Formats: sequence, structure tokens, C-alpha cells
Amino acid sequence: MNRFAQKLEERSISFRRGRPEILQVNVGKLCNLTCVHCHVNAGPKRKEIMTRTTIDCIVDWLAKTEIPTVDLTGGAPEMIPDFRYFIERVKGLRASRHVIDRCNLTILLESGYEGLAQFLARHRVEIIASMPCYTAENVNAQRGEGVFDGSIAALQLLNSLGYGINSELLLHLVYNPVGAFLPGPQDELEADYKRELFSHFGIVFNKLYSITNMPIGRFAAFLRHNHQLQEYMELLVDAFNPTTIDGLMCRNTISVGWRGEVYDCDFNQQLDMQWQNPNESGLFLWDIDPDKIDNREIMTGNHCFGCTAGAGSSCAGALL
Ligand code: SF4
Ligand code: SF4
Repeated sequence: MNRFAQKLEERSISFRRGRPEILQVNVGKLCNLTCVHCHVNAGPKRKEIMTRTTIDCIVDWLAKTEIPTVDLTGGAPEMIPDFRYFIERVKGLRASRHVIDRCNLTILLESGYEGLAQFLARHRVEIIASMPCYTAENVNAQRGEGVFDGSIAALQLLNSLGYGINSELLLHLVYNPVGAFLPGPQDELEADYKRELFSHFGIVFNKLYSITNMPIGRFAAFLRHNHQLQEYMELLVDAFNPTTIDGLMCRNTISVGWRGEVYDCDFNQQLDMQWQNPNESGLFLWDIDPDKIDNREIMTGNHCFGCTAGAGSSCAGALL
């Protein structure tokens, strides 16, 4: 039994799924950046991307459910050839669905992606954009040289289209710490971001989500290299907060991989913790009956302490 499961058992906390409300689809590991904190190990040389056939199977499955939100992530999800096709198909379903794009901002200005920001605005796609700091020094240290300037230009483009201004064009930013520490209070960070980005660049946005770095993928390798992995894990364990459990994203999100395989969350996905049949073969989305997964036990590991530390952490920021 892992330490997280032990902690839950000690406190008699049952850790099961509720009703699925979000289908989070990780369309692949291809990305134009190679950020230090990346839990996906994404980058420009990765070959794993979702095909149109898999997209069709996912949308056909979604059409039979009442899941209201589709959350696209990666890599840089916009880089798969059928990204726009995916959104058009979801938006074409009889019952309307809300779509989220987890965007690294710089992709909006890359050559070959002209018109992408306008496409997202036309389809009322919510954008959740990574922006680990409002200073060039910190952003470039974590994401690579020049990423800060590219991100600022992309945010200005999004504002010019109405993002962050029009109530149907939501633009949220994601902060994550630039080292082995927990994020500070989300509302204070949000106030700092809003003040700095507006006063220096005239940028506006809706909310700031602060997300704890998970001790997996490239961030774990970075910590290991700096002899900080054990210390960071203990920081997360010591900060365990049981009141975060109810809001954890694995309780209402189904996470799907680029081949259609199913997980409790994107972190479990990166650790290959795929849902299994009783005969221990891996489950794919089309094997799942959405009405029969309420109360399914959630697969855990020590990395789960990254979600329950302090104010908690999820794809929508702090939980408390
Ligand atoms: S953190 Fe996001 S933008 Fe950075 S390499 Fe990973 S997927 Fe790409
Ligand atoms: S990593 Fe977080 S979201 Fe995933 S199963 Fe663990 S607690 Fe839930």
C-alpha cells in the first residue's frame, strides 16, 4: 500500500469517484516547449498524438453521455493535426458542451498556427493558459528563453479578440511555483498578477489558478538531479490536508490518453495507471458505461500528496 492510501486508511477516508462532469482528453505529448516542471515530458520530438479515428470514437462516446465539459490538454493540444476537427465535432453535438483548451500561449504565435486564436474565440473555447510568473526572468527560467515575450504577445492577441473581457470568452492563467515549494495564497497571487500584467502590458484575464508541481515526470527528474526529491515529497506529505479530498479533480473527471485509454487523472495517466478490467487488461473510453462508474475506487500513489497539500491543487487551481 502506498503512503497516500495508508494516510486515507488511517483517517477512514473512502476515496471514490462521484458523477463524471469533465472529460479531460490528453491528445498527446507533442509540444513546442520543454518546460522544467512538465509532468508529461512533452516536447517537439514526441511522436505520441491522437488520430482522427480515436477522436471520432471519443466524440461518439461523449454524444451518448450528459458530460457537459471537454477539457483538452497535452503537450500543446493545438499541435495535433485534428485539433480544430475535434472542437468542431464536439461543438456540433446536439446537446451543447463547453470546451476548454489548456494552452501554453506561445503556440498561438507559431508559424503554421495562423488564425488559431480567432478559431478558439469563434467557438467560445475557454482558455486556461500557463503563465508561471509575471516576470520575464522566472518564466524564461522555467519554460525557455523568449517564452515570456511570446506569452505576453499571445495574451495581448487574446485580449484584442475579447478574451478576458467578454463573459463568453474566459481566459484564466495558471501559476505554478518555479521550484520545490508550495504555491502561496491564490487570491493574493491573482491580485499581484492582475496588477503587474495590466500596469506593464495592459493585459486583463479572469482568474488565476495556482497549481502545485507534481513530483513526477520532468519535475521529478529535476528534483532528483538537485537532490531535492525526498525533501519535496516530505513537504507534500507534511502539508496533507484532508479537507481537500472532496474537491479533488479525480472525483468528477475522466482522463483519457492519446490512444483513448482511461485514467482517474492526467497525473495517473503519466504514470501509466490505466483503469483495468477484472482480467487486468487496460480499459479504453469506449469500454466504459458512464452510468456505472460512480463510486468506482480511485487509483492512488504517493504523487497524490501533490493534490492534497496545503490549500489543495487541481486543474482548476487551489481547492480551498
Ligand atoms: S508544461 Fe505544458 S507547455 Fe511546457 S512542455 Fe509541458 S506540455 Fe509543453
Ligand atoms: S494525483 Fe490527484 S487527481 Fe490524481 S488520483 Fe491522485 S489525488 Fe486524485
